[in-house]
Amino acid sequence: MKDTIDLRALIETIAAETGFSGDIRRNEPMTAHTTFKVGGPADLWVHPVGDCFPVFAAALLRRLRAVGIPLFILGGGANLVAADAGIRGITLDTSGWTGAEAARGGPCRLLVRSGTAVDDAVEAAAERGWGGLEFLAGMPGAIGGAVWMNARCYERQVSDVLIQTEILDYSPSDGSFHRVWVPSAPGEFSYKHSPFQKWDAGNRGPLILAAEFGLEKREVSDIRREMAAHRRDREEKGHYRYPSAGSVFKNSRDFGKPTGQIIDELGLRGYAVGGAQVAPWHGNIIINTGNAHAADIRDLTEQVAEKVRDATGFELEPEIIFVGEWVTTVRIGVGNLRRG
Ligand SMILES: Cc1cc2nc3c(=O)[nH]c(=O)nc-3n(C[C@H](O)[C@H](O)[C@H](O)COP(=O)(O)OP(=O)(O)OC[C@H]3O[C@@H](n4cnc5c(N)ncnc54)[C@H](O)[C@@H]3O)c2cc1C
Repeated sequence: MKDTIDLRALIETIAAETGFSGDIRRNEPMTAHTTFKVGGPADLWVHPVGDCFPVFAAALLRRLRAVGIPLFILGGGANLVAADAGIRGITLDTSGWTGAEAARGGPCRLLVRSGTAVDDAVEAAAERGWGGLEFLAGMPGAIGGAVWMNARCYERQVSDVLIQTEILDYSPSDGSFHRVWVPSAPGEFSYKHSPFQKWDAGNRGPLILAAEFGLEKREVSDIRREMAAHRRDREEKGHYRYPSAGSVFKNSRDFGKPTGQIIDELGLRGYAVGGAQVAPWHGNIIINTGNAHAADIRDLTEQVAEKVRDATGFELEPEIIFVGEWVTTVRIGVGNLRRG
């Protein structure tokens, strides 16, 4: 059935029914939407802007689920390797659904829409003299992706401050998607893992609409000092020197040392495949030196994992997510391979 569906006509019908405003484009290059700056065309890229987002997204999820068309939910694209062949079906870009405001649930509660840049959320908390999000200062990406990933840095993770998450939840009784707040339950989040990665709510996991963070009153000058220190540290570590997606592989206690150190000790800094290179200054970052294809990044990721396996027996698990249509099967991190 899906082969016969005109995707654009379908989306324009849903758009007309839901007061959509924003952009709809065929064959949108993912190079423009990923921090790695790689990736082929998304068949249909849909970018709702403003208050139409939840109503449009709910109608979209319902229709796509009914007709079996795949959906990919795009945040800031800061943790993705989008395939050179692109992403089939619909790519829903959440970056037009932004904003942060005080939530009603209690003092120092910040409600942030999922498409809001992480740095903007950190600023919104700082402006109010609310501490707790400083650790995320300077981290690329959007809040929806940070919750989905349970992003982590400087010994803290998103779930430390996440009170509840608003999602579009699937109702099997009538096939609709509706807005629901899900309280954060202890034990459901762990290292780089959120419950939303597995939640089988519909087409493919739930769409995160917003997050509510529980913060604490703090001197604005102290908040800003800590934010500046984290941003400076990232600068010094070369995070913004080249296009990348931050750390490539997860750490593991079983290794007894950081994954980057293991890769360093094997002399793999600077090791390259095409335009992808292990950063000459950090073993756990792969950079796009200018003309990398997604396949170069994938091959390099696999080769580094193989070399580590051969030398140490450790199985590295990628943190970066391979999305879209790969011509050959991705050999590692198959759990991370998400077809578009
Ligand atoms: C220079 C650099 C430094 C980095 N440093 C760190 C770091 O210190 N710690 C860290 O944890 N990460 C780091 N990252 C990776 C990245 O910034 C985070 O993982 C970020 O949280 C990803 O968010 P995103 O919005 O870009 O998600 P994307 O990359 O767009 O998507 C990631 C996943 O989340 C899903 N998703 C996104 N939004 C939603 C939504 N609204 N609803 C449902 N699913 C959604 C996507 O479908 C995808 O599966 C770094 C990246 C870069 C480029």
